Amino acid sequence: MPRMLDVSDDVRAEIGDEEAERLLGGENAPGSYDCTSCRTPGNTERERTSTVLFVGEETAVLAFAHAACIPSQVVPVSEEQLQGAVRSITGEQGGAPAAAAAPQAPPAADGPVQAELGVTSGLVLIKDELIPALVVEPLGPIARPGTTGPVDVFLPLLIEQGFAPVASVEEVPEPNPGWSVLVAMGKLHAILQPAVPGAKASAWWQAHQAMQVADDWRAAVNKTKRVLVLAAPVGTIGQQPREDLLREALDRAASRGQLVAATMPLAGT
Ligand SMILES: [Zn+2]
Repeated sequence: MPRMLDVSDDVRAEIGDEEAERLLGGENAPGSYDCTSCRTPGNTERERTSTVLFVGEETAVLAFAHAACIPSQVVPVSEEQLQGAVRSITGEQGGAPAAAAAPQAPPAADGPVQAELGVTSGLVLIKDELIPALVVEPLGPIARPGTTGPVDVFLPLLIEQGFAPVASVEEVPEPNPGWSVLVAMGKLHAILQPAVPGAKASAWWQAHQAMQVADDWRAAVNKTKRVLVLAAPVGTIGQQPREDLLREALDRAASRGQLVAATMPLAGT
């Protein structure tokens, strides 16, 4: 039975015409699936469905999403992330997902930052709108690459890379071109930074294990398709158990000139 599948040109180029036709003919497509974007069930026989191809360095994984959620597309990811996505797709969860505030993976060794980053998800109220946000705080001082510090240059490094200083958490900052947030299978996988010319986008921060996010955060992201990424030096925000306390900590950091931010689209959109 034919499926209501969208296969974009770039997905077709990766999987080949033969496989694309098999999918469209229903041979290789699932009936029902969990949407890779909103995580709710979908059905390729009853609703328009986007094919989403996650491509790592060595392997690729085909996933499905409601066409209303995201268009058919190729999403470049690191191999490690892809393995996480595969585990997520196939439901082999290794252990309980970390709480939203758990410290997460170090970025790639050649990235601008060489320390563990803590990433917390939360909703931030700006002009009567709840904006899905990620708050990034290193677990130690960040030295400029190639030096040993001891000066913490986390914020200056981010400003050099297009983040804007935040004087008050009342404005949504400008998008930072090339940066994006990878949310797949309803979980947070990574913050991607622009590729150097000729290379794929690479992970600036990557979850050790795909990070569970709250339902209301995911719902907000599905609506806005954008994430506000806020960053502060070590010891500025800390672990806040509630969103009102998180907001107070952000306001305090902003008033002291210790907060930078950028708006990022979802990866692949
Ligand atoms: Zn969906």
